[in-house]
Amino acid sequence: MQRVVMKFGGTSVGIASNFEQAQGLVLARAARDAAPPVVVVSALTGVTNSLVEFGAVPSRRAALADRIVERHASFAREVGVDASAIAPLVAEWRAVAVTHADAGALAGAERDRVLAFGERFAAALFAAGLVARGARAAAITAGDAGLVTDERFGAAHPLPEANANLAASLGRRDDVVVFTGFLGRTLDGRPTTLGRGGSDYSAAIVGAAIGADEIQIWTDTSGMLSADPRIVPEARPVAHLSFAEASELAYFGAKVLHPKTLLPAMERLIAVRVLNTARPDDPGSRVTATAPPADEAWRVKSIASKKGVTAVTIASTRMLLAHGFLARVFEVFGRHHLVVDLVTTSEVSISVTLDDTSRLDAAIADLEGIGRVEVRHGLAVVAVVGEGAPTRLGLAGHVFTLLGGVGIGVEMISQGASRVNLSFVVREEDADRTVRLLHRGLGLDAEVATSAPGAGAAR
Ligand code: ADP
Ligand code: ASP
Ligand code: MG
Repeated sequence: MQRVVMKFGGTSVGIASNFEQAQGLVLARAARDAAPPVVVVSALTGVTNSLVEFGAVPSRRAALADRIVERHASFAREVGVDASAIAPLVAEWRAVAVTHADAGALAGAERDRVLAFGERFAAALFAAGLVARGARAAAITAGDAGLVTDERFGAAHPLPEANANLAASLGRRDDVVVFTGFLGRTLDGRPTTLGRGGSDYSAAIVGAAIGADEIQIWTDTSGMLSADPRIVPEARPVAHLSFAEASELAYFGAKVLHPKTLLPAMERLIAVRVLNTARPDDPGSRVTATAPPADEAWRVKSIASKKGVTAVTIASTRMLLAHGFLARVFEVFGRHHLVVDLVTTSEVSISVTLDDTSRLDAAIADLEGIGRVEVRHGLAVVAVVGEGAPTRLGLAGHVFTLLGGVGIGVEMISQGASRVNLSFVVREEDADRTVRLLHRGLGLDAEVATSAPGAGAAR
């Protein structure tokens, strides 16, 4: 039985024209498929940021509490949804705001309880809009649907039983369920959040749980593009990517997908599509287990970048002789819960990159017992992604030549184990022009691509 998950991001539910468009897309799907789609929504654009600020800045709290109410009330008016649809939530929000009026910065469970209002308001508005258009639809909070998580507030992980819970609560519904993205709930009933941008992940969790045929991510670009359009305005949609390619791009900064999104889809081999709510007829991007390599000479489909990266180098003149050196280094990172991205080794040193350095100081003290430690901040990882690209003879040399030509130094280089990713480290201030230069130099700019024989067909 055909069934899809349709996830709408902040601009798709928080801009009136897109909201109307999204509602139409859901109604069309509900009329067409044997089982109605499950809709997953993010907060209206800007709302999560306001809620974060509400938690962080006590002096702005009263003004922000009003602003949150006004944002949803005026949006309801704009899209023709009756105010009664959000009245209970407004009352609950007012009560929560009052309890925090004199508190300091919010953290942990209190902060997640506040953040959860964004998606709860959005789901209520979206479901009410569908009902007003004659559909049978209801909003449901992720926790009520059984998405239980651990207690890592702000970055919670679903518990194994979430899958069966969601299958039981959503699997056989014959109305359109509008599910709050980004949220979960601890076993003792406190709201959690899955990490910023986590609604994409929610959609994939739901899709895997109900055995959906497709997980659709409706956003504000016509698919996963060949680069971040804010950096490269010429970036173009990539028609087809493998799970491995899309995962690498998401991990290394392509914000259009949360980095964990592909995991549930990969486990159940469910196709993911990235589509544009404002231009629903554009083909968008398809992400499946395998995808043909790009036609272009370098096989590169897209370039991503991640700033705020720190490199740590541990050097020991005895490294070659001392077996177990690498094991000792990684044991330290593991013990301090530091996630390592890139790794390069030489005869006498090992360098790694990290993006969360909150526990780095303690780790450095331990690493100093192993060798000489050097830390460099203010770096960026640039990832050049495409099936088969890293094995193209000369790609790394070509990249170095392009960057060297304009004086950009490459600090570290690493060929991803997935064989779809060539990633390297540059200084943060060089990151954007590196991406632009490579987009052009590797044949991804439109005019370059169309002038090359056979270009464009694979995306
Ligand atoms: P949503 O609210 O729909 O979840 P996001 O803002 O989280 O949308 O993600 C979409 C944005 O991701 C785009 O508007 C774009 O600015 C950014 N982005 C970064 N890299 C890429 C990429 N490779 N392809 C498409 N969008 C990208
Ligand atoms: N609203 C949440 C955020 O802004 C989740 C999401 O948009 O996916 O991070
Ligand atoms: Mg997003």
